Amino acid sequence: MHHRHDLSPRTRAIIELEERHGAHNYHPLPVALARGSGVHVWDVDGVRYFDFMSGYSSVNQGHCHPRIVEALTEQARTLTLTSRAFHSNLLGIYEEYITGLFGYDKVLPMNTGVEAVETAIKLARRWGYEMKGIPDGEAVIVVCEGNFHGRTTTAISLSTDPSSYGGFGPRTPGFKTIPFDDVEALRDAVRDPHVTGFLVEPIQGEAGVVVPDETYLARVAEVCRESRVLLMADEVQTGLCRTGRMLCCDHAPVRPDLLILGKALSGGTVPVSAVLADDEVMLTIRPGQHGSTYGGNPLACRVAIASLQVLVEEDMAENAERMGRIFREGLMRLQSPFIRSVRGKGLLNAILVNHPHPEAGWRLCLEMMQRGLLAKPTHSDRVRLAPPLCITEEQICESLAIIGESLAVLEGLAEPLSLEVR
Ligand code: PLP
Repeated sequence: MHHRHDLSPRTRAIIELEERHGAHNYHPLPVALARGSGVHVWDVDGVRYFDFMSGYSSVNQGHCHPRIVEALTEQARTLTLTSRAFHSNLLGIYEEYITGLFGYDKVLPMNTGVEAVETAIKLARRWGYEMKGIPDGEAVIVVCEGNFHGRTTTAISLSTDPSSYGGFGPRTPGFKTIPFDDVEALRDAVRDPHVTGFLVEPIQGEAGVVVPDETYLARVAEVCRESRVLLMADEVQTGLCRTGRMLCCDHAPVRPDLLILGKALSGGTVPVSAVLADDEVMLTIRPGQHGSTYGGNPLACRVAIASLQVLVEEDMAENAERMGRIFREGLMRLQSPFIRSVRGKGLLNAILVNHPHPEAGWRLCLEMMQRGLLAKPTHSDRVRLAPPLCITEEQICESLAIIGESLAVLEGLAEPLSLEVR
């Protein structure tokens, strides 16, 4: 049993310091990290772990990738922020590179994932009024049950999870919820001529890696095209090689009208997000109508170019695809009675824990932590396993051994756990 007194004095002091002075809006595993490199992180006592969180898929390129760190530090010594009140020598170069890479007319740079989502919502509404002739103030955006698009007041307004939106009302109006992975529900919803966009995650990450039917995205894209509704793909978590393609939409393949990126766009260094779209959509926002002080700053531009180049030049999509297959096969081969199912694409995977105890997922993660692998449940019985995309086959095998040994701990789990570590 993992009690707080098992923690090292250093770790305990760090946890207590955070608890005393920080808001209690997270529930971390009791581990305090001090260093990272590639697929590994080290705690304050020098203990090494495999990182199967990857900063919620921000560190796809691996911790402290030398090329990204080089770009970051060199640019940090040169020029970090101009604001968009002036031009910079890097913004245009970044914009040309990223629009070329993904095949869109324009990019709008922001910082966090949720800001990019908010930007996409504003663009879709504006396009609806200016291009589709929706009466002002009446645009509707269709969203999916179980979605996660971030934590702003509007993003939580779309959420169907009471722990996201509960107690934070009133909610932003103008959204309609349909079930995920249900094309007919979308077909029904878009009969309303006020619908301007369909916001969807190609795989629902925070919901516990919910993978829709293989044909879902292609059919959804067709429905959107037929009804002149913008397909808005939130690839903040699924994008940038995580699922074995540059974009998860590339599996279909589908080209969304609005592409939302974040997280690994900076390889886990500084917050960099982006919305990509063609002129018909993007040029509906004019000077002074949207922006961000840090959006498109020189440091972010330089780091984003390096982060994308690393993904492309180090074939991280291909490695994610190959390692993902080996990993899922290995999980199946464990034949653990405590694995209900394994799901995922590339290196965005999850196991559904087969155990009646409400804290089985948490207990499993504590055990994996003690054996040198870090992951966290997204829900009580869903454990997401998403290592950096530079992971090798040998490291996958080592990780599988840790996961296999850790699952055995659930055999002894009968009575409710001590809540002490929470
Ligand atoms: N969209 C998706 C699909 C996400 O998974 C997340 C974060 O987990 C976000 C948006 C929000 O990103 P951020 O936390 O950077 O605001």
